[in-house]
Amino acid sequence: MIPVTTLKGKSVALFGLGGSGLATALALAAGGADVIAWDDSPASVENASAAGVKTGDLRELDWKSIDTLVLSPGVPLTHPKPHWSAGLASAAGVEIIGDVELFARERRAHAPDCPFIAITGTNGKSTTTALIAHILKSSGRDTQLGGNIGTAVLTLDPPKMGRFYVVECSSYQIDLAPSLNPSAGILLNLTPDHLDRHGSMQHYADVKERLVANSKTAIVGVDDTYCAGIADRIERAGTKVVRISKRNVLADGIYAEGARLIHAQGGATREIADLSSIQTLRGSHNAQNAAAAVAACLAVGISENEIRAGLESFPGLKHRMQPVGRKGDTLFVNDSKATNADAAAPALSSFERIYWIAGGVPKEGGISSLGSFFPKIAKAYLIGEAASAFAETLGDTVPHAMSGTLEQAVADAAADAESDGSGPVAVLLSPACASFDQYKNFEVRGDAFVKHVAGVPGVSMLVAV
Ligand code: ADP
Repeated sequence: MIPVTTLKGKSVALFGLGGSGLATALALAAGGADVIAWDDSPASVENASAAGVKTGDLRELDWKSIDTLVLSPGVPLTHPKPHWSAGLASAAGVEIIGDVELFARERRAHAPDCPFIAITGTNGKSTTTALIAHILKSSGRDTQLGGNIGTAVLTLDPPKMGRFYVVECSSYQIDLAPSLNPSAGILLNLTPDHLDRHGSMQHYADVKERLVANSKTAIVGVDDTYCAGIADRIERAGTKVVRISKRNVLADGIYAEGARLIHAQGGATREIADLSSIQTLRGSHNAQNAAAAVAACLAVGISENEIRAGLESFPGLKHRMQPVGRKGDTLFVNDSKATNADAAAPALSSFERIYWIAGGVPKEGGISSLGSFFPKIAKAYLIGEAASAFAETLGDTVPHAMSGTLEQAVADAAADAESDGSGPVAVLLSPACASFDQYKNFEVRGDAFVKHVAGVPGVSMLVAV
């Protein structure tokens, strides 16, 4: 745990007692703050009280005596409208911050030079974060991995010289971290997402820009116009910028030429890594993630050899285009995280011949936007509520079976793939749907897929079941 010493002796109100909120309350108290915490859910309040946190309804506070309001990242600061606790704090002129800000202040107070890599973007955050942490760890560095990826940042070990932090930041966390100043900040890409919480694309982009604007080295994916503009603007303001591209040659920066990552610097170019044989980094989206990871590792002093070794041994993240089993020419791939058509596109674009398992609770538009991939689909196996609608979209163009359940779909696809005979093929779960009709969440769906794959006679598993 990182005790929050920078608010020692201060009166702190905290709203939002989910996982990271509770951890933050405990870290504040451990550092000597007088914390009072609350949540709209009585069960969360009770749970926090049982863990030793002082709780009380923040509506009853004398806000003039409060120094800081700490909000959990899930609680709206501005959009669609400020949470009532943020309203009370603003009215009393009380600062409103989150756990990532508290971490940044602790680092500045105790080990301002310890390497801190912060990662944001619309897509690829978790993959890039996990990849960087893996490269650092496998090079023997003391590595702390946390933030939006699942481990609350204040549950990590305290900042000290020589300790590396890799922290995934959602927009909400950046919004609550006004003094965030990583050694290397990554902004991967920006596309419309969560606009309900940010009001407009411009506001969303402005928030994301803050993470890189105050970085010692800013690493920016310049393939979309928002990020390209941000890179130019912060560079003009004096920030050191490393540009990343998955599709265009850059005069300076790191770009992908197919699966090769090229480093362009001072007029010279050379290959810095070749991803073509790394199963867990397939696809141009992963070239973007890997290029950003390489740039960040270089910025904090990791050698090229250490970086290449880390890339090669990256185990990948569960449920994201994760190779889970192999039988002859058939690779079984778990992409359960693809809960809509856009998220399924990278996986469909990354394999040449696909036995595709899709379905669940469909999102608006279904799979019609994926039409350009249909020629690669040898056959589709449809499950869940979306099956009939997807069958209609596939029509006569793509052979398909109404498998109904995931178990049946795996059995059907494995048998068809085995008799394919045309070379390497993928049996791909990339459902383009939410899972709630048949599973609690996408993780449970992905785990079920792995279990069914393990039941295919003769399969060699690449992951533990
Ligand atoms: P995030 O943490 O931002 O949600 P993840 O790393 O968990 O991103 O990846 C989620 C999904 O997003 C992946 O399964 C893949 O389909 C897609 N994806 C990953 N990286 C990128 C990228 N750089 N650009 C576009 N899509 C991506």
